[in-house]
Amino acid sequence: MPKNKLVSIVISAYNEQDNVGELYKQLKENLKATKDVDFEFVYVDDGSSDKTYEKCLSLQKKDERIKIVQLKRNFGHEIAMTAGMDYAKGDAVIFMDADLQHPPVYIPQMIEMWQQGNEIVLTKRLDNKATSGLYKFCAKTFYFILNKLSDTKIMESAPDFRLLDRKYVDFLKGFNEQDRLFRGLLSWVLPKDRVAMIDFVAPERFSGESKYNFAKSLQLALNSILQFSVKPMRLATYLGLLSALAALLLGAFVFVEHFFLHNPTPGYATIMVTVVFLGAVQLICLGIIGEYIGKIHIEVKKRPLYMADYVERKEKSRDKKDI
Ligand code: UDP
Ligand code: MG
Repeated sequence: MPKNKLVSIVISAYNEQDNVGELYKQLKENLKATKDVDFEFVYVDDGSSDKTYEKCLSLQKKDERIKIVQLKRNFGHEIAMTAGMDYAKGDAVIFMDADLQHPPVYIPQMIEMWQQGNEIVLTKRLDNKATSGLYKFCAKTFYFILNKLSDTKIMESAPDFRLLDRKYVDFLKGFNEQDRLFRGLLSWVLPKDRVAMIDFVAPERFSGESKYNFAKSLQLALNSILQFSVKPMRLATYLGLLSALAALLLGAFVFVEHFFLHNPTPGYATIMVTVVFLGAVQLICLGIIGEYIGKIHIEVKKRPLYMADYVERKEKSRDKKDI
């Protein structure tokens, strides 16, 4: 009898003590009917300060398919997904959040699409009624600017709920940048075919609060631009050229006023405006360059991405199971 394929489900959890158990329950319920595949559940505890890790351990006592990657401190969602991907052994890997905003009910469909030959199954989050008009407008404007500035197209409303075939998992493992954005990396490797898409409406969190506040979201937005493009630096050059042109025009205007119209503008005001304007332009340009130098500073050190313990229960080897 041919060996079943293994599907790994990687779940990133940071302070999700009241969600991990419910998620496991719903996963078990929804995956019962899925044939011809075995599962492993890789819970990544991203340095939680609550009882997330203990909850995962007690789930593992009941189900040896549960593996736990315990990060030694909070490394952030992107690194948590990377750690999960590094430890996942599956022929396909599904990534999902722990808060039930990525409903397990879609997983059988993802697997079916993979079994039909798709190597990547993405999801698209549809707006639910609660999404405000202002939020939609801001999101649309952000993605417009992002995709204008970035060399890699980054999809809108593409949550980190997706399936990747082992081929792409190994491919992504080759990217070792510290500062990483899965969505961007994925757009970089995205093939033209064998990609399927599932639309879904994300429910509210089951329990707890979102870890993303406005400042974190803004940082993520800026990072998405900086990581995939050097266009802002070019923008700095254009800004410099533009202000040089403005200074030239102002000079010509003052010259004409002084020598031909005999009506000189009082010096103080124009000098102050010019100095402040040019000062601001220079600071902006320095800031942009500084952002990139900061990134280089972090990347050149090539520090390990994370520190982790891997906890699994001694299970019967999968080969033995098939004898
Ligand atoms: N998460 C994580 N590390 C962090 C922040 C978040 O592993 O530093 C996990 C979190 O537990 C959740 C997922 O990433 O499973 C998405 O986070 P959250 O629900 O807070 O984001 P939102 O859905 O509000 O965008
Ligand atoms: Mg969430």
